[in-house]
This record gives sequence, structure tokens and C-alpha cells, in this order.
Amino acid sequence: MNWLNNFIRPKIRSLVTQQKDVPDNLWQKCATCEGMLFNRDLSENLNVCYHCGHHMKITVDERLRLLFDDAKWDEVRLAKVAQDPLKFKDSKKYADRLKAAQTKSRRDDGIIVAKGTITGIPVVIAAFDFDFMGGSMGAGVGEGVVRAAEEAVKTNSALLAIPASGGARMQEGALSLMQMPRTIIAVEMVKEAGLPYFVLLTDPTTGGVSASFAMVGDIHLAEPGCMIGFAGKRVIQETIREELPPRFQTAEYLVDHGMVDMVVPRKELRATLGRMLGLILRPGFDAHGTGRSNKGGSAPKSPAKGGSDVRTAANAARNIAQLAPKLATVKKKKPANTSTPVRKAAAK
Ligand SMILES: [Zn+2]
Repeated sequence: MNWLNNFIRPKIRSLVTQQKDVPDNLWQKCATCEGMLFNRDLSENLNVCYHCGHHMKITVDERLRLLFDDAKWDEVRLAKVAQDPLKFKDSKKYADRLKAAQTKSRRDDGIIVAKGTITGIPVVIAAFDFDFMGGSMGAGVGEGVVRAAEEAVKTNSALLAIPASGGARMQEGALSLMQMPRTIIAVEMVKEAGLPYFVLLTDPTTGGVSASFAMVGDIHLAEPGCMIGFAGKRVIQETIREELPPRFQTAEYLVDHGMVDMVVPRKELRATLGRMLGLILRPGFDAHGTGRSNKGGSAPKSPAKGGSDVRTAANAARNIAQLAPKLATVKKKKPANTSTPVRKAAAK
């Protein structure tokens, strides 16, 4: 029976292992229509299901490639912020989570700020990377939005924010919530300079991001079917004890209710953005409604000169990030300071 072990068995084993070598990631299933999608065709179709039009997620690099002219842009360097200022730990240390995300994405945080042109018009884009800790907004991401706004004002460009986020980054506690007013001040700076501020809402835009800069754009575009809201549908349903409509919190529902201006399929995004920017920034367009038109061409020539209040507020907001480590030490020292007089009193 040796021939069975020595000859037949290895033969069968080799057949089985050969089968395993066939790549098993050639196809995937659409989450909406359950149609089978060939990966190469899917990626040629910009990750949109070619059976039902369901828009799947795309990486932040693919997104920029899709929007900028000739798929070319310059990345804007972001200032370093205090990492893990609260020394937060849940089931895992926040520092470890952050490090893992940084290694995987090869970026410092979940945002990329890039400048380039869309149909020839200068634009600064602040795009969220959902793969980086769910696109959550901490001090680093807030810094990105502020930097993008500053760059837009400095270079007389339009600002386009592309959020994809689960909300504020819980591991940074109150510091992550501070990014909400901070980012609002930043985009206010762009508006005061008479430059357009667009938001392209992608799946999902929720929590602290939807409750701050993502909802104050001059024009809100959204991708079909994307989820936009603050709290999740189930949480709301359980709180108000009422059944919510089936399309609740989708881009299309928000168009009907005035929160979103347009739902634009991914393929048409670049052309639509270019057309709208062209309309707003055309020569003679009066950005401030002051009666003085912008004859210079693309954008107002001297932006944000009078916006000193906004600028001061923006600087104050920026200092929040620098305060972070100090806040953490104050928090640690406090118990020691308060306990001393108590102990002295007890000794008396
Ligand atoms: Zn489909």
C-alpha cells in the first residue's frame, strides 16, 4: 500500500494546493443588488456597481485622481499636533491604534490636503480618509481643515471639503469636540475672503463632522445613496419611538429636505464641480454683493484683509491644539494640589 501514500496522496494534495493558488478576489458582490462584479470592470467604473449604480467607497487617492485635472496635485504639508494628549486607553492604547493606522496609511492622520486645478480653476481639497480610524476627527484632522482654509485664502483658491467620517475621535475627548468650532472658524475665513466653499458629502458623513464644517458650505453636493446624519437611524428611532421613513438620512432624502443641493453621480463630479466653480468665479462676479465686481478674473485679488476678527479667532482656535499637552498635565497635577491643604487641615 506504499504506492498509495507515496504517489497518489501527493498527487491529490498538489491538485488541491494548485486550486488554492487561483486568486479568490477577482469578483465581489454588490451590497445593494447582490449582483456579481468583476473587480477590473468595477474599478474602471470608479467603484460604482454597473448593475444598479450603487456607489461603493473609494480610497482618498482615487478620489483626488478623479477630481483634479490630469490627476495631478500638490500635497500641502500639515503641522504636527500633540498625539494622544490624554494618554487614552480602552481595550487598546490610543497611541497603539494611532500608530497602526499611520503605518497602514503612511499618513500622520485621517485627512489629506491637496491643491491643484479642476477644469483650470485653482482648488484646495481637504479630503477625509475613512480607512484611517473611520475618518474620525481629532486635533490632527482639525488642523488639516484649518490648513486647507488658510491655503485657499493664501492662493485665492476655492475650498472643497470631502468628509467621510464617523464623527469626532472619542479617544481625544473634549479636544476632538473643540475641532468643531475650530473648523467652522476656518471655513468662515474662506467665505469672508469671498471665495467659494463647497462640500462634497460622501458615505458616511456623521457625528461631529456633520455637525460642523460639513453642513455650512456655500453649495452641498453628495454622492448617490450616501448616508448623512448626526446620530444613527436606530438610535433616533429608539429615542423618539417612531418609525422613520426608509430613505431617511440618505443624500436623496436630504435633497428633498433642503440640506443638500445636488446629488451627483461619481462620473459627473469633476465636470459638475468645474461648471459650478466657473459660474461663481467668472469675471465680473460680485462675491460680496457690494456692487464692486471682480473684474480680475478668477477670484478676488485681496482676500480677507478686513477679516481680522475671524483671523484672531482662527489663531485662538489653533492654540487649542498647542494647549492640549498642558491640559493633560494640569489634569494629572490637580489631585495632588487639592489634597495637601486637606491633609494639613486633618493634621491640625
Ligand atoms: Zn448593485
